[in-house]
Amino acid sequence: MKTICLHCSSDKGFEYILSREYKSRSYSANLKDYDGEEFEGSMAVVACKNCGALTVYDDTCGWHEDDDICPGEILFPSIIHDHGAIPKKVKEAYEKALRVQWIDPDAFAVLIRKALELVCSLEGAKGHNLQKKLENLKGIKSIPSDIAEAAQALRLSGNIAAHDVEKGLHPLYVHKVDDFFKLILDYIYILPFRIEHFKTYQKLAQQNGGHNSGSSAASIVTP
Ligand SMILES: [Zn+2]
Repeated sequence: MKTICLHCSSDKGFEYILSREYKSRSYSANLKDYDGEEFEGSMAVVACKNCGALTVYDDTCGWHEDDDICPGEILFPSIIHDHGAIPKKVKEAYEKALRVQWIDPDAFAVLIRKALELVCSLEGAKGHNLQKKLENLKGIKSIPSDIAEAAQALRLSGNIAAHDVEKGLHPLYVHKVDDFFKLILDYIYILPFRIEHFKTYQKLAQQNGGHNSGSSAASIVTP
């Protein structure tokens, strides 16, 4: 799959600007190792050949000027780094939407609405339409009112995008739709995953003895 610019959705490719090697440390997940192991990574800054906006990649394994595909992780602009917490199907649906966000705001909102439907379906939310399913999801996952309202706003944006053939969705809505969807992913998938992870670390730290979980937590590289 060709790498697209997340600022403008263009697939014209990137111009290499600069890269830097950096040193960091990795730690084993059993928390017995307090010194960790040093490793070298690299970050690269590239500019979109279409809009000129910058993208920052981590650990690019080298960058060549005519590369279309960069194997690194995008650090900027902000996308979700979920560490496997988000179901594959939901992540794929979100990435599919991101590819059109700046080309077609209506298509973006409709695809995000579909991704929201998918979240409801995977989480077992019941209802004869998306509005009811979201209400059900709110109960199932104990979603706070503000986040539930954001989910309903996404549903409505998708409706406007699909049915208002004359005007459609204003491009400025793209940021809001994206922010709200990430908020929902954060609450339903990423936050519980991080809390579980933290509990595991606390347990391991107690088992290892000698260090309490507070002092060791600071040195952990979050997986
Ligand atoms: Zn661009």
